[in-house]
Amino acid sequence: MGNPRSSVVSNWARNQRCVPDAVHQPASTNEVARIVRQAHETGQRVKVIGAGHSFTATAMTDGVMLRLDNMTQILSVDREAGQVHVQAGATLHDFCRELHNYGLALPNLGDIDVQSIAGAISTATHGTGSGLGNLATNVVAMTLVNGKGEIVELNEGDPRISMAAVGVGALGVVCEVVLQCVPSFRLHAYETIEYLDDLLDDIPSFAESADHAEFFWMPGARRCQVKRNQRTTEDIQRPGKVAYFRDKYVAENLAFGTVCRVGRRWPSLAPRIAKLVSSSVSERDLIDDSFRVFASPRLVRFVEMEYGIPLECLPEAVQRVREVTKHLSFPSLFPIEVRVSAADDIALSTGFGRLNGWVAVHQYVGAPYESYFQQVADIMDSYGGRPHWGKMHYLNAAQLCERYPRWGEFQELRVALDPDGTFRNEYVDRVLGVPNAK
Ligand SMILES: Cc1cc2nc3c(=O)[nH]c(=O)nc-3n(C[C@H](O)[C@H](O)[C@H](O)COP(=O)(O)OP(=O)(O)OC[C@H]3O[C@@H](n4cnc5c(N)ncnc54)[C@H](O)[C@@H]3O)c2cc1C
Repeated sequence: MGNPRSSVVSNWARNQRCVPDAVHQPASTNEVARIVRQAHETGQRVKVIGAGHSFTATAMTDGVMLRLDNMTQILSVDREAGQVHVQAGATLHDFCRELHNYGLALPNLGDIDVQSIAGAISTATHGTGSGLGNLATNVVAMTLVNGKGEIVELNEGDPRISMAAVGVGALGVVCEVVLQCVPSFRLHAYETIEYLDDLLDDIPSFAESADHAEFFWMPGARRCQVKRNQRTTEDIQRPGKVAYFRDKYVAENLAFGTVCRVGRRWPSLAPRIAKLVSSSVSERDLIDDSFRVFASPRLVRFVEMEYGIPLECLPEAVQRVREVTKHLSFPSLFPIEVRVSAADDIALSTGFGRLNGWVAVHQYVGAPYESYFQQVADIMDSYGGRPHWGKMHYLNAAQLCERYPRWGEFQELRVALDPDGTFRNEYVDRVLGVPNAK
């Protein structure tokens, strides 16, 4: 069963904390089922925490906490079909490296790869690419433990997969998944500096300008850092270890962290910081295996809110956010990130039924962010925006249900899988409501 213990658990950003009654690290789906069954019988609530990289209290509990750190194995690989059966506690980092040994890859990743597979799919974690859906769209089959501690198999073709793939931790413990992968591929990554106004003038072209296109804009600056990753069959040309360390650790983390600390202490310097950060960005160019290109180390802690809105609304929305940043009582010390993702048909996927433009706002940890985030949220809400399930936002179930046409079907499945609310916590109650409160 693992060793119950009681100590403080916090997330990566350290803005969420809880003291679970017990923490278990099961090693098999059967063991998960036993733990959940016992919790259900004694009326305790259960939450799984993955890598703790969500900014909300989504994985927090004062009941039973599960960590699937001992459930990380690849169980089988169908190379021909490109399908891989894996325990859901594996990190994307380790999984992608093992996949590569089989000549396979995930078609897309976000900015980091330290998340657990289950945590990433449960919140519809996404990268950028107008032709690519979020990570949950790769789910072909799932094995869950439901709220009564029963093992539920959702095999390929089961219509419940398109409701369960993005479960926000409320449907059950995702123990195993079969993921649709693609043959390993390389990316040509090239970074340029471009004017924000030029990018916003023709967002559809920007979105189509590479397989994966995104840009970072520092409030107050006129220019952006644009990152494009394009599939290529050319040979690897990766920077040496020293250059990688200089770019990824010294420039993107150590130097940037110092600049953020200065800005938090002396906010009036923020405009000069924006210029410094924008002008110090270099134009990089490299070719490497996809999983090495997508993810970067993130050592400077921040809080984040990110909304997906219909792509056609993106230029106006970003201009409105730009106006907001001109009048903040405390400036934003972090860039705004703009990405795109493809439509899908998963009930609670932020990409349900539409091509999304993504706007992410961040603030350095410890610096005021509430007024900034609230004003940006108001803008995004005016476009029917869907907040990322793992990031900060202010919406509740009554508001969110309007933005997800299959909300009712999801709730029916939720009641069927978790009739007694075993997987409830405060966050789930707020964002998904309380169908069968006890
Ligand atoms: C520095 C940083 C960079 C990020 N970059 C991106 C990005 O580029 N793109 C993006 O979309 N997001 C990004 N995120 C957000 C992140 O991908 C999501 O919050 C993701 O859910 C984190 O995965 P995790 O394993 O840490 O899950 P956690 O945060 O631990 O959990 C997330 C949710 O999943 C549930 N859960 C976890 N495991 C299971 C399981 N086995 N069964 C059922 N439910 C489970 C939890 O209960 C919780 O509800 C970033 C976050 C950080 C901190």
